[in-house]
Amino acid sequence: MVKEGEVLSKDSRSHAKFIHGIKLLMAKNYIDNLSEEVKKGLREKAEQGQWPCKAPLGYLNNKETHRLEIDPERAPIIAELFRLYASGEYSITTLAEKARELRLHSRESATPLSRSYVEAFLKNPLYTGVFVWKGNRYAGSHIPLISRELFDDVQEQFRKANKSKKTTQEFAFKGLLQCGYCGCSITAEVKKGRYIYYRCTNGKGKCRQHYIRQEALATMLGELLKRIKLAPDIVEQIREALRSSFDTEKEFRQKELSRLRREHSKLQERLDQAYIDRLENKIDVSFWEKLHTKWTEQQNEISQKIQRLEKANRDYVQEGIDFLELTERAYSLYLEQSPDEQARLLKTVLSNCTIRDLTLYPTYRKPFDIIAEGGDSDIKLGCQDSNLGMAAPKAADLPLVDTPIQSMIRFYLG
Ligand SMILES: [Zn+2]
Repeated sequence: MVKEGEVLSKDSRSHAKFIHGIKLLMAKNYIDNLSEEVKKGLREKAEQGQWPCKAPLGYLNNKETHRLEIDPERAPIIAELFRLYASGEYSITTLAEKARELRLHSRESATPLSRSYVEAFLKNPLYTGVFVWKGNRYAGSHIPLISRELFDDVQEQFRKANKSKKTTQEFAFKGLLQCGYCGCSITAEVKKGRYIYYRCTNGKGKCRQHYIRQEALATMLGELLKRIKLAPDIVEQIREALRSSFDTEKEFRQKELSRLRREHSKLQERLDQAYIDRLENKIDVSFWEKLHTKWTEQQNEISQKIQRLEKANRDYVQEGIDFLELTERAYSLYLEQSPDEQARLLKTVLSNCTIRDLTLYPTYRKPFDIIAEGGDSDIKLGCQDSNLGMAAPKAADLPLVDTPIQSMIRFYLG
């Protein structure tokens, strides 16, 4: 950390490491807030009836109007596939074959469409003129390819096809644990119609891991949270670190803003010059138009970036402070939550956890690893941490709903 004149090494005191971890977490949170602004821009687009992403098969993105237009080559085939599936005479597999026969493939490659791709577009209401984006429904400004009735018929066929299949239940702690005997993941099932049991998937043959009831597992997992605790003086130090990280962020933002403004006025100078050149007939009309479009587009992009930076939520330091104050209450609040909420908190704190019958071997995420591990007298905590030499799963394997701090706070505040 150049600005703070801090040097971190393996021998650094663990509270210095922890504070460093908090700063990194803060920086990530800031970036997430920025991307939140980008999402807002996309939402505004959606509210105007414009599909904010890449056009689905059967449509094309019109770069000028920013609207979807019908792809004359593929749209008729898509509509035909809807009709065929609604007839009830096709399965997804045979329909995918039919799509191949009709030479339907994606815009990027000539490989035939997969079954899941075919299924996905048959379930996409966008073809009827409305679309769902980020959980909200919008009336699109594009021309529908098929009628609402046809779409409903297709969905009815899906329901019929699914009836025979067993519905899978979601289990709160699934995906959180690994078997300590064989390394397979721990899955869950319902016994006697109401008890949820967790067990090894037995992916490498019959495993000696015992079954464990969800309630017992929840209690054991709760114990892991007890290990995350901060002494009051540490809380004060971290609060200080948060404030300084806020200053760093402010400085970054100011620099970035002035850079963007400089770029914006440079483009304006170019535009002005090109306009004079045009008046003096140094350049022809079409060239002038090309330059004008290009540079104004760039200017617009920069303006949007400026807006986002100015609007980016800067409450993130407060979030961090709240998070700290709540750290000490982690366990007692855990006890009051539903298993789903408990799992969310655990995934915030743990990157991996191995189980051997009634013993858990957690791997904590950064920076919780430091406060949970202890080792330095500065941090009053003790915990035996071992992952039994097993590879930790990639962060992407564990679905983090929010940034760690956001979900932590959401967890506490319900
Ligand atoms: Zn096992």
